[in-house]
Amino acid sequence: MQQSVMKAWWDSSHMAGGNATYIEEMYEAYLDDAQSVSDEWRGIFENLPKLDGVEVESKHSIVRDQFRALAALGPAARVGSGSTQSNVSGGDDKQVKVLQLINAFRFRGHQHANLDPLELWKQPRVRDLELSHHNLTEKDFDTTYNVGSYAIGKESMPLGELFASLNRTYCGSIGTEYMHITDTEQKRWLQHHIESVQAKPEISREEKISILKGLVAADGMEKYLGAKFPGAKRFSLEGGDALVPMLKSLINHAGSKGTKEVVIGMAHRGRINTLVNVLGKNPSVLFDEFSGKHDDSLGAGDVKYHAGYSSDFATPGGNLHLALAFNPSHLEIVNPVVIGSVRARLDRRGCTDGSLVLPITIHGDSAIAGQGVVQETFNMSQTRGFQVGGTVRIVINNQVGFTTSKIEDARSTQYCTDIAKMVQAPIFHVNSDDPEAVMFVTKLALDYRNQFKRDVVIDLVCYRRHGHNEADEPNATQPLMYQKIKVHPVPRKIYADQLIAEGSIEAHEVEKLVSDYRAALDHGACVVEEWRPMTEHSVDWSPYLGHDWDVKFDSAISVEKIKELGEKLCTFPAEYELQSRVAKLYADRVSMVNGEKALDWGMAENLAYAAIVDGGSHIRMTGQDSGRGTFFHRHAVLHNQTDGSAYMPLANLHADQGKMEIYDSVLSEAAVLAFEFGYATAEPGTLTIWEAQFGDFANGAQVVIDQFLSSGEAKWGRLCGLTMLLPHGYEGQGPEHSSARLERFLQMCADHNWQVCIPSTPAQVFNMLRRQALRPMRKPLIVMSPKSLLRHPLAVSSIEELSEGVFHNVIDEIDDIDPSKVKRVVMCSGKVYYDLLEQRRKNEQLDVAIIRIEQLYPFPHEEIGKVVSKFKHVKDWVWCQEEPQNQGAWYCSQHHFWSSLPVPATLTYAGRKASASPAVGYISVHNQQQKDLVDDALTIK
Ligand code: AMP
Repeated sequence: MQQSVMKAWWDSSHMAGGNATYIEEMYEAYLDDAQSVSDEWRGIFENLPKLDGVEVESKHSIVRDQFRALAALGPAARVGSGSTQSNVSGGDDKQVKVLQLINAFRFRGHQHANLDPLELWKQPRVRDLELSHHNLTEKDFDTTYNVGSYAIGKESMPLGELFASLNRTYCGSIGTEYMHITDTEQKRWLQHHIESVQAKPEISREEKISILKGLVAADGMEKYLGAKFPGAKRFSLEGGDALVPMLKSLINHAGSKGTKEVVIGMAHRGRINTLVNVLGKNPSVLFDEFSGKHDDSLGAGDVKYHAGYSSDFATPGGNLHLALAFNPSHLEIVNPVVIGSVRARLDRRGCTDGSLVLPITIHGDSAIAGQGVVQETFNMSQTRGFQVGGTVRIVINNQVGFTTSKIEDARSTQYCTDIAKMVQAPIFHVNSDDPEAVMFVTKLALDYRNQFKRDVVIDLVCYRRHGHNEADEPNATQPLMYQKIKVHPVPRKIYADQLIAEGSIEAHEVEKLVSDYRAALDHGACVVEEWRPMTEHSVDWSPYLGHDWDVKFDSAISVEKIKELGEKLCTFPAEYELQSRVAKLYADRVSMVNGEKALDWGMAENLAYAAIVDGGSHIRMTGQDSGRGTFFHRHAVLHNQTDGSAYMPLANLHADQGKMEIYDSVLSEAAVLAFEFGYATAEPGTLTIWEAQFGDFANGAQVVIDQFLSSGEAKWGRLCGLTMLLPHGYEGQGPEHSSARLERFLQMCADHNWQVCIPSTPAQVFNMLRRQALRPMRKPLIVMSPKSLLRHPLAVSSIEELSEGVFHNVIDEIDDIDPSKVKRVVMCSGKVYYDLLEQRRKNEQLDVAIIRIEQLYPFPHEEIGKVVSKFKHVKDWVWCQEEPQNQGAWYCSQHHFWSSLPVPATLTYAGRKASASPAVGYISVHNQQQKDLVDDALTIK
């Protein structure tokens, strides 16, 4: 059979057991008249392999058995439950039955595997795994059968031996799920690696001792903390102790394969243990933290079981850098942060296949099944803008989620890991009380990841010795489980006893390992032999540290340079045929560069990116429509109408420019924003931009905004220069597309944690973006970006205004108005400015001045002070906004407005009245409201 036909055939689902009758009918039809079946089927039948010399046109029953045999052999042939239903009986077809038996173990062996250390799991009886289901009995044990593709290294085996081998391989301490993978190569690879060693390779004494040392450390650490700080929360690892030797083995193995950095994300369970026993955090520092000492330089700080850490680690392949990401209590949200951080490190190293940086995400069993962001990260895992060559995902499956243990309450799937099947990730369930099995799947998982550049999951089935934390009483909710746990020996003892029994170690040597570890903790020194001082990380943050807002930076840019960049931006391959509206837009851009037209928003924004990458900095921009722009304004990516190919002028300015990347993202806010946060906190040299389709969609990523962006620096001392573009503006589009919820961002402003800007001109967006990239401080930039302003005839700028190189936090009155005649000053931000300006011009009013506050936080007291000084005599001051009174800037920034006014003065509000909804749904009501608020602002009573 030709290779391609064979593959297509295996890759189809036609061979699923339930389709056997259908296939037979098709085959009958084919025998009658080859043209009566589809080309695809004809191809399959014509290439039907001959089993044991049997010809294709032979007895129907033989043909049927051929199909069954092939179905049994064909790894990609079955989908769904993988039933191996068979009704064939009789002595001649035993060989087929044997192949079906092998297939049954590959599909469903995991359901009979010994996975639960507490032996509480009620496993269903899987008849497919019984001999009788395949019309086989123990009487057949001595008969030798061909084992097909069973990768044991022999062509044939006595059934008894094969049956034992299948049980060892698929029903021991490891339950492997991989038959849902449709790619034959991957499946064959996994079969080869699992079956060839019957899921239990030989391991050296040295390795065994190393595993034992890991378990001694994991157990020793918790016992020590429990005794020294009784009742203190530490979210003990106990029960899942295997995680420590497992992580060390994973890191060692990664290092030996050439990995240079490993980034780990985990929630609180086991974090303290991991910090000390894997990353090499100094125990004395930890004990100080338990005693309440803290480092004032870290601002607000965070609890010790959220702390991150960085170090280097010696592996057989050389030292590598380790980073454990800081994490809030919102469990799974750290995963995209870690993966984003890995992508940044890969980009920095110029590595596109993921081989140099490894992400490890550690999940809880309830959280991996329960939290949607897990699905989002799986969905991202193979996409252009977000792939990192696969993530090794480990579940600390302690079978309880705080107090929720019953499967019927925690999830609707058999395993907590079923979500991973959406990307066809292989899943290794493993009994954590068998640490050698854990080590085997750990290495296998990494090898799979490296080989196929895809996600892989290890479900470390364990238990939790204490409650959710050490002050919690688990017997209140899990009485039976905790009765078992109480008498269950600790993993260290189980493994030590095993090694003593097999003669690998003496009992007194185990005791010495335990006492040596305790002594090391007493001594307060690092307990990780492989720990090395940090030299291997790939970026230096020092240029970005310790700056204030007034830090100087070079923002000059000449008119000539802008024009030169503008010309390059309008250049694309001659054969590129643009869609007519895009062609018109690009023709307009040419006129803008020539000085025939004023610059609009889209051109100024593109010019900002061009100027940034021209200077050698990188830009990474993602969002659901970032290439084109939700509102058809950006068109940074051109699509050839003749062949659909894409071209980005920004990426083709010149050979020495910085990298320009724009990706339309997966349709997610939480995971994408978290990914970009991770990217930006790992890469200060890139202007990282996330754009919401509409500003209010950012609320789908509220956890990222609250837990990371607004507070990450205060809690963890981690800087982040991420820019968020949030389309905002009241244009009658209804409650969901008007507001980017400015008030929420303003409410979180403190400690100069971020900047909140509402630029109102193309020159302002140009200089705001350049400032964010060039200024050597890294703070998030929250931008209320425009929609209708993108095409507003007044919202235009000259090239000279761009070339000024300054973002104005405040813009003074622009019309020729004599300040001494002014009786009222209206302050505002954003699009409403143009409504006010137009109406005032229409009214021919000269007694009202309008000033724009373009940066609401940090509030520009000094700049506004200068503007206000011209209107010192004015007593009537107004804040005008489009948002309802309980939203927008009125409540959150009012204290800043007041502090800027002359004394005495009044400050009144002109805007929509308070509302539960961000905006009305009726355009006529919207228009009336808009007119009223503008009139209100301009009418001096
Ligand atoms: P990492 O590569 O994440 O392990 O970071 C290595 C070191 O760089 C850390 O120990 C910090 O000193 C510094 N660093 C990393 N990320 C940041 C950040 N976002 N802000 C400030 N310093 C950082």
